[in-house]
Amino acid sequence: MTADVTDRNPTPPTQPEDAPIVVLCRWLSVLDGWATFYETDPAAANRPGREDFSARDKAQALYLLKERGLQTLMNSASPAIRLGLLEGPPQRAKVWLCDKCQRKARQHNMSPREYAERHGGCENCQREQRDPDFYSLYVLQVDYMPVGRWAFHTPVPLGRAYLPPPRSRECPVVGRRPIDGEGRFRRLGQPLDKAARRRWPEPEVVYQTWTALRTLKNSLEQV
Ligand SMILES: [Zn+2]
Repeated sequence: MTADVTDRNPTPPTQPEDAPIVVLCRWLSVLDGWATFYETDPAAANRPGREDFSARDKAQALYLLKERGLQTLMNSASPAIRLGLLEGPPQRAKVWLCDKCQRKARQHNMSPREYAERHGGCENCQREQRDPDFYSLYVLQVDYMPVGRWAFHTPVPLGRAYLPPPRSRECPVVGRRPIDGEGRFRRLGQPLDKAARRRWPEPEVVYQTWTALRTLKNSLEQV
């Protein structure tokens, strides 16, 4: 799970006149940096803590809050917000070999699965329909220039519960999901470095994100 911080050094809000959307975006960027740190940094696993949660659990909890933030941004229906889809590669279809192909697999001394992966099966084999957007990412872009610009990402299987369907009018394809030289998905978010973690302790970031989220929600209800 990823989110991009277009501004590599996110600056949490200091101006009382900042729009609620801006405040939420700034804190969501820092929150995402914390989650990415827990998910990627080996130092995170060794961080002393009173609770018995793994770094992975902590990342998951922060990502859940991030999802709430993205949902609230989307509900604001602000013209500053654009949703799009970064297409991932299609998920490989699962194949159940027909009798003939199963025999061939045995002749080649392969398991049915190995054979299906290597040869794909014939037209008589059964194929499971897979989600074409299993590896795609939603990208929620917030353009609040000149104040700031942000882009948050979330996997389609997660975001689908609260975002418009991928490839719809509200969510057109805007690009491909970036892949590195070795064919792996490139991580779009940046972990917070040590100085940033010291400056914005995690409990503070969580508290501020919740506050920004509620403030934006309340401002929407007043309209
Ligand atoms: Zn077959």
